[in-house]
Amino acid sequence: MNGLIYMDYAATTPLDPRVKEAMEPFLSDAFGNPNSIHFYGRQARKAVDESREMIAHILGCRPGEMIFTSGGTESDNLALRGVAGARKHRGRHIVSSTIEHHAVLHTLEALREEGFEVTLVPVDEDGLVDPEQVADAVREDTILVSIMHANNEIGTIQPIAEIAKLVKEKKTDVLVHTDAVQTVGHLPVRVDQLNVDLLSLSAHKFYGPKGVGALYVRQGTRLVPQLTGGGQEKNRRSGTENVAGIVGMAHALRLSTQEMEQENRRLAALRDRLIDGILGQVPDSRLNGHRTQRLAHNANFSFLGVEGEALLLQLDLHGICASSGSACTSGSLDPSHVLLALGLSREWAIGSLRLTLGRSNDDQQVDQVVKIVPQIVQRLRELTPEAVRLGFS
Ligand code: PLP
Repeated sequence: MNGLIYMDYAATTPLDPRVKEAMEPFLSDAFGNPNSIHFYGRQARKAVDESREMIAHILGCRPGEMIFTSGGTESDNLALRGVAGARKHRGRHIVSSTIEHHAVLHTLEALREEGFEVTLVPVDEDGLVDPEQVADAVREDTILVSIMHANNEIGTIQPIAEIAKLVKEKKTDVLVHTDAVQTVGHLPVRVDQLNVDLLSLSAHKFYGPKGVGALYVRQGTRLVPQLTGGGQEKNRRSGTENVAGIVGMAHALRLSTQEMEQENRRLAALRDRLIDGILGQVPDSRLNGHRTQRLAHNANFSFLGVEGEALLLQLDLHGICASSGSACTSGSLDPSHVLLALGLSREWAIGSLRLTLGRSNDDQQVDQVVKIVPQIVQRLRELTPEAVRLGFS
């Protein structure tokens, strides 16, 4: 990658060239609208249907249970708003967690304004949600529980199957949604094993194209559509299907799933080298997130007395592409809501660095980062008192 070190794979991944090749016909000759009756339409419909079958097979559901969307944000919105709209006569209470992605948290805020009540379950210092606490939060009027599968900032993986089991034992008709945007293509996600009713995914997190995703919805689950129009996706999401994107998503998922075991072993070794190297060399540093219950490619650190944004700019000057938390919140100096939810003080939370690994990374790159990060942290720490003295805090 042109001398740059890309360690921001949780923000997005490059398109797998094999996926690009599979998509190309649908960006040129096979341009039909899958809703047309003629040859071109049938050709596009076949590609969409086959992709749906491929994705459903991998995720352990029926093809008719997949709704194609424009990505993780839309899938989360459709899940929350769609269920809230369809079930408001039964109750208006939703349970979620304090560390969800903003696609969930901001949607819940909007639902609150529409009269829904939301309980956000806290997490422990490793970012783990306690399944018992989730079940305890379920009330007579609870209609939906939404807990993410793995966190995008700290990589902690939640016990979703256990959460779903306890929630349904407490109240059988509560629906369980999981935002699996960070796990599909990275962990062997199967909706039948997780026992969830709704699950969000997004292709650009597993070497597929941007702007396409899906929502699994268990058969028989009513949803109020959020996009109305031509009635595509069985009236649940109108709009002409993103044929090339859908084909790309299916191929990307198939390839990531096939290569997952081997790649995760490789990435976990790189991640641990990164963690041990950085923690071993930087005083007043910590790893955020669970040490073992975490995504194989995620390392999230905090350095006391350093601003994450300054660290990112310095890393960028050294050709290292990283993130301070979620990509969506960079540009603001507000500490991450996820790190605050772990109980970190503001001082620790603002000094965060997320390094997320992927296919282009190797031992040499990790060693390079392990060499540079401590130097930059030290330099920034030396500069900070001076900056404060000069009024540039
Ligand atoms: N949910 C999680 C956990 C994410 O990490 C992201 C993307 O960063 C999203 C939702 C939003 O997905 P998309 O970028 O496809 O809209």
